Amino acid sequence: MGTAEHPDGLDAVVVGAGPNGLVAAATLASAGLRVLLVEAADRIGGGLRTEELTLPGFRHDVCSTVHPLALASPALAGLDLGAVDLAGARLRLAQPQIPLAHPMPPRSAGPPAQAAVVHRSIAETAAGLGRDGPTWTRTVGRLARHGLALPEAALHPFDLPPHHPVALARLGALGLAPVSTSARLLFRTAAARGLLAGLAAHGTVGLEAPGSGLAALVLAALAHIVGWPLAVGGSQSIADALAARFIGLGGQIITGFRVRSLAELPPTPIVVLDLTPRQVVQVAAHRLPVADARRLARHRYGPGVVKVDWALDGPVPWADPALARAGTVHLGGTLDEITQAERAVVQDRHPARPFVIVVQASVVDPTRAPPGAQTGWAYCHVPRGSTVDMTAVIEAQVERFAPGFTERILARHVMGPAELEEHDANLVGGDIAGGATSLRRLLTGPRLSFDLRRLRHDPRTLLRPPWATGTPGLYLASAATPPGPGVHGMSGAHAAMLALAEYRGHGRMRE
Ligand SMILES: Cc1cc2nc3c(=O)[nH]c(=O)nc-3n(C[C@H](O)[C@H](O)[C@H](O)COP(=O)(O)OP(=O)(O)OC[C@H]3O[C@@H](n4cnc5c(N)ncnc54)[C@H](O)[C@@H]3O)c2cc1C
Repeated sequence: MGTAEHPDGLDAVVVGAGPNGLVAAATLASAGLRVLLVEAADRIGGGLRTEELTLPGFRHDVCSTVHPLALASPALAGLDLGAVDLAGARLRLAQPQIPLAHPMPPRSAGPPAQAAVVHRSIAETAAGLGRDGPTWTRTVGRLARHGLALPEAALHPFDLPPHHPVALARLGALGLAPVSTSARLLFRTAAARGLLAGLAAHGTVGLEAPGSGLAALVLAALAHIVGWPLAVGGSQSIADALAARFIGLGGQIITGFRVRSLAELPPTPIVVLDLTPRQVVQVAAHRLPVADARRLARHRYGPGVVKVDWALDGPVPWADPALARAGTVHLGGTLDEITQAERAVVQDRHPARPFVIVVQASVVDPTRAPPGAQTGWAYCHVPRGSTVDMTAVIEAQVERFAPGFTERILARHVMGPAELEEHDANLVGGDIAGGATSLRRLLTGPRLSFDLRRLRHDPRTLLRPPWATGTPGLYLASAATPPGPGVHGMSGAHAAMLALAEYRGHGRMRE
């Protein structure tokens, strides 16, 4: 298709049907706008797609699988997904008995060292952490007691006055120091220090960076607040539920159409791009002020990942049997080992023993594989754009904690940075976070910018909202904008709300 053919009379076009694009489209449609959603791939979902990557009957989430952010997200709650009926099957999230386990390096003799385990219950988690149990209760436990106020505060980083200032202040006090330091100050045991390091590495890279504790603490607290659930049947069902909601509101979707220039789209007062800054410059350069295009072109991307999906002939043979009940397992051992592995990636090197995130969807969802069999999923960070095959290194890391694992592999599917970007153009150089994660970026988006026109209208809005561009009516909604990566749809909701406010003249930008 050279140009998209659309019905006339549209109010808005959304480009990209990832979770943020879907939420933006549904939010605009629920306000009564006529909205078209355009997606490059043959299927909607972006980071939510599920495919038979290995063998028939084995359903793998190509990208995201674990959905605490989706369950806690005010954007998804606001869209009332529970009311959506997908041909009779409602979207169902299933909770593994254990949200997260973090095994310690095997000893040369004797029983395996006890893994650090995050249970749904704060008390059970603390009991398992021994001497560090009281500290867990005082830190993560106290954050978790804020309930949904904590993710709500964290997912609205730009709002002034802040949502839930006490929760935010407590999170900031604990999370602003680099985890390489705070893990040592807070905890005394190797297991608790390793656990915090793994959570930080899951949320970001560079444990030595200020703010690396924020994502770690939010992820840990979410395990207590909402769990770390998985979508039954695969993450695709979340995308399908969002699309059903959008279509139910009168929205239209075109798939298999890669937008190369905004000129290919029908003229509409609102265009929302679920794209990262480099792509925004590619499709919208002619519509952006030169300074804006330059700022976006300077957006810094983060490291890439290598992801492996396995079809297994049975469960992973973990040395510590508790791990068989965990949805997610962090492999990297001690604080020092994880810090070194992530430091290597930041310095453009490939760690010999990378930090590996393993997800075992079959633990809670038997629909992922034929009877008796299981699926497994793992990734590690690598330098952006790396072409190094990390399969053997990732599998060696699993084998270290689960001797005999490789014998269970029936088939594997490997995606390096190039394959990931081919799958979803937002994964630039294999970066799954929409840009290098830093405290500043999570707060301000691609680039901090001031907008003097806003000052003229309203001094409080001198700072341009990170979802706006220098072109009225053109918005950014992807994970490159606050609150950053993850399936929560909040960037899409923020962009759509801003677009609606300006469209209706509340922001007084549409003169
Ligand atoms: C391997 C991996 C594992 C992950 N695990 C988790 C997890 O367990 N939990 C979690 O919460 N998050 C996870 N994430 C992160 C999560 O998937 C992303 O943060 C999230 O999908 C970002 O949503 P988005 O809508 O901003 O972008 P995306 O989901 O990337 O969607 C962007 C969409 O835009 C489309 N597009 C791009 N260019 C164009 C164009 N020119 N024209 C039309 N369409 C275009 C793409 O095809 C894509 O569908 C993971 C990501 C990866 C890659």
